[in-house]
Parts: sequence; C-alpha cells; structure tokens
Amino acid sequence: MKILVAVKRVIDYNVKARAKPDGSAVDLANVKMAINPFCEIAVEEAVRLKEKGIATEVVTVSIGPQQSQEQLRTSLALGADRGILIQTDAELEPLAVAKCLKAVCDKEQPDIVLLGKQAIDGDNNQTGQMLAAISGYPQGTFASVLEVADGAVEVTREVDGGLQTLKLNLPAIVTTDLRLNEPRYASLPNIMKAKSKPMDTTSPDELGVDVTPRTKVLKVAPPAQREAGVKVADVAELLDKLKNEAKVI
Ligand code: AMP
Repeated sequence: MKILVAVKRVIDYNVKARAKPDGSAVDLANVKMAINPFCEIAVEEAVRLKEKGIATEVVTVSIGPQQSQEQLRTSLALGADRGILIQTDAELEPLAVAKCLKAVCDKEQPDIVLLGKQAIDGDNNQTGQMLAAISGYPQGTFASVLEVADGAVEVTREVDGGLQTLKLNLPAIVTTDLRLNEPRYASLPNIMKAKSKPMDTTSPDELGVDVTPRTKVLKVAPPAQREAGVKVADVAELLDKLKNEAKVI
C-alpha cells in the first residue's frame, strides 16, 4: 500500500506573524518556517502505518518555493521514503494545490492520500475536500482515528457533539485532526539518513496545472492593538469603573 502525504511549508507556529509595511502580504523575511503541524500529524500517521506493515511506501509532496525542500527533508527524517517538490513561487490557492495533487495522484496511484485538515497560515481547510471533488476519491475529514482493513479505511471524525465513523473504499483521502497522534521528533541519525533519500522536483507547468490565483488579496493587517489594562484596588473600585467609565452596568 502506497501513502501520499501532502506537506506544506508555513510560518512556524511559535512565530508572531507580521504584515509587510505596505499591507500586501505577511512578511516572511527572516522568519522561521516549519512543516504545517497538521501535515506533521499526517506524516506520523503514514509512518506508523508503515511500521505496522500496512503501508509499503510513504511519499511526501509539497508545492511551493525551492525552500519547501527543507520540509520535505524533515518528513523524510520522520520516516517517509521519498519526496516530490512541485516547485513554484506563485501565490497558491487551495484549488491550485488540489489540482497539483490530483496530477501527482494520477501518476503515483496512492491508496491513501493524507493531508492536514488545514494549513495554519491561510486557515483555508479546503484542499483535501477539493482534491476529493476533482479526483472522485471518497474523503474522511478531521480524522481522530484511522484504521485500515480489507481494502478499506475506517476514519473516526471529530464532528460537533461527538464522533462519526466512516468506512471509505480505497483509494481514499483523509485529513488529519489534532488528536490523531503525537508526532515524534526526528533523531539525528534519521536527519542524516534523510539527506540521501530520493527527492524529485517538478513544476505545475510540467504537470499541466495552471496555478494562476482566482482571488486577489486586498489587504493584510495585524489585529488592532489592545490597550493596556488597569489594576483596581478592590471590588468597589471595579464596580465604579464599570458603571462610570466603561458604562457597561
Ligand atoms: P488548506 O486547505 O490550505 O487549509 O490546507 C489543508 C492541507 O492541504 C494542508 O495541511 C496540506 O496537507 C495540504 N496543502 C495545502 N497547501 C499545500 C502545499 N502548498 N503543498 C502541499 N500540501 C499543501
């Protein structure tokens, strides 16, 4: 069984994002980048399936600038076998990513495609669903448990007010939720080994995919600054301020 995992290069979740002074985009200059956390969970799940003897090959794919190789290498250090970089400097929308992934699926014929439920930069939560729509593969989104048996995958999904379990025929698309697993850290020997694992580079053009954006970003701005709070001496002062300054009671 072959598993394809889509990994996105995003701003590290510990970094406070800044807008460019002209408000055109998020400023990525000298900012620490990392694998999108939900994609890391997807890699971990694929590697666990390989360790259980269910998967035979784990291929990771990233679409983005040349530096996305770093995130592919990290996924190889976590246990994936092979990487594919679809290199482009274009601004990517979920539909463009889904089309690139569809082209890779046509070529690689994976049994399961694992994606994060969302990328923490754009918060789109669209790519897995769009890939399902254009590939015709069944989808199990927001997976918190994944089991493979008898040519199918059972996905337990976190839905409002409970859990829903779906059985999907293969090939299938699964997007990962936070509680699916806790990713391992890459060990130094595995980081070294990852350097010699195969990585192919292609481009949207070579795959016949037009990634021209359909939407235009008008403005990127940081959240409004909150004013500093004040300390009050006692409840009486608090009530006085709420009544006479804030006028909320
Ligand atoms: P999104 O729909 O943008 O929130 O992204 C959901 C998931 O789609 C991510 O967690 C990745 O698994 C995948 N994905 C999105 N953009 C890319 C990309 N540029 N390269 C590889 N995978 C991506």
